[in-house]
Amino acid sequence: AYVGNLQTGFKDFLLKPELSRAIVDCGFEHPSEVQQATIPQSIHGTDVLCQAKSGLGKTAVFVLSTLQQIEPVDGEVSVVVICHTRELAYQIKNEYVRFSKYMPDVRTGVFYGGVNVKDNVKELSDPKSIPHIIVATPGRLAKLVREKKISLAHLKHFVIDECDKVLETITMRRDVQEIFRQTPREKQTMMFTATLNDEMKPICRRFLQNPLEIFVDDESKLTLHGLQQYYWKISEEEKNKKLAKILDDLDFNQVIIFVNTSKRAQELTKLLTISNFPAISVNGHMKQEERIAKYQAFKNFEKRICVATDVFGRGIDIERINLAINYDLPTASDQYLHRVGRAGRFGTKGLSISFVSSEEDEEILKQIQDKFDAKMTSYPEEEGIDSATY
Ligand code: ADP
Ligand code: MG
Repeated sequence: AYVGNLQTGFKDFLLKPELSRAIVDCGFEHPSEVQQATIPQSIHGTDVLCQAKSGLGKTAVFVLSTLQQIEPVDGEVSVVVICHTRELAYQIKNEYVRFSKYMPDVRTGVFYGGVNVKDNVKELSDPKSIPHIIVATPGRLAKLVREKKISLAHLKHFVIDECDKVLETITMRRDVQEIFRQTPREKQTMMFTATLNDEMKPICRRFLQNPLEIFVDDESKLTLHGLQQYYWKISEEEKNKKLAKILDDLDFNQVIIFVNTSKRAQELTKLLTISNFPAISVNGHMKQEERIAKYQAFKNFEKRICVATDVFGRGIDIERINLAINYDLPTASDQYLHRVGRAGRFGTKGLSISFVSSEEDEEILKQIQDKFDAKMTSYPEEEGIDSATY
């Protein structure tokens, strides 16, 4: 049974309509805990020091905060984001492109080593192509600043992602300091990281003025909060029968069923569909376009059952899923967390049931319980589960 959601929504942040639209397009429905804790202040220019384990949505905190505040002026750089690798810079740039979709006047550029610096200089020589938002690795940006190819005199927001990584490396720290000195004193500085030890904290704080400090430590508790977890020890041969029983007995809204191979996904989808449980499948055998189409169809509630492989196990956020079934237990315990995290996203209620049918499964089950401090109990086949509780 789907329980109405009383959580904060992105609309509570009162963002610009063009930003809100992009958020909807990106499929974000509810802000994560770290977003809820940070965005209300960061969109008003407060400095931020934020440590939260990976996957909790830190990127969106600074992307949304800076886009909310930006007033693009041609020829002026308003935002600089520094991170430690080229790939990450590229990925962050794409996040900006995604979220500024309805802000046609905002330009984002990315600068990192390994690319001909002449191309950078060309982009920076015409006010009509100078990016308002620059995502960069420290070395290349420091070089461009040093050689006066870029002016940061109008900068309003300075962001360091993976700040402990960036600042612990001496060369990178020196580059960052050099860049930082070229920016106005009056600006917003935000830092994000997954890990932050006590030595690094004061180093970060040197760049910050009266920051909001957010430390979210326990990923497992965050992800699994509100989720009831069951295992069910059955043989491989019993799986189909027990699955049908679950789908009959439980009053779910949408369910995601995980299997370990694309072939098994296809077979189970076929079997469910002919057994009067219309299902959709998302698996690695499909072309990217088909995967997206199936994902969208499921998200649009065209079907209530989705059979998936681990291609669907990470980052997918579908609000109506309140039941996740491991038809096959994952072969690595970390994957369990990603999978069952599809139900009960961001602290909503949910239910997970994992079939355990081999010795290897037993071993993985033990690892899961130890590692994530997960309270899993045996599935109460006879009594069933009160639908008011999930
Ligand atoms: P972090 O930087 O904390 O490791 P990311 O910013 O990379 O995490 O986000 C992890 C994934 O979660 C990304 O795919 C991102 O698009 C997604 N995500 C972030 N916030 C939300 C949200 N509120 N709703 C749904 N997905 C989200
Ligand atoms: Mg990140």
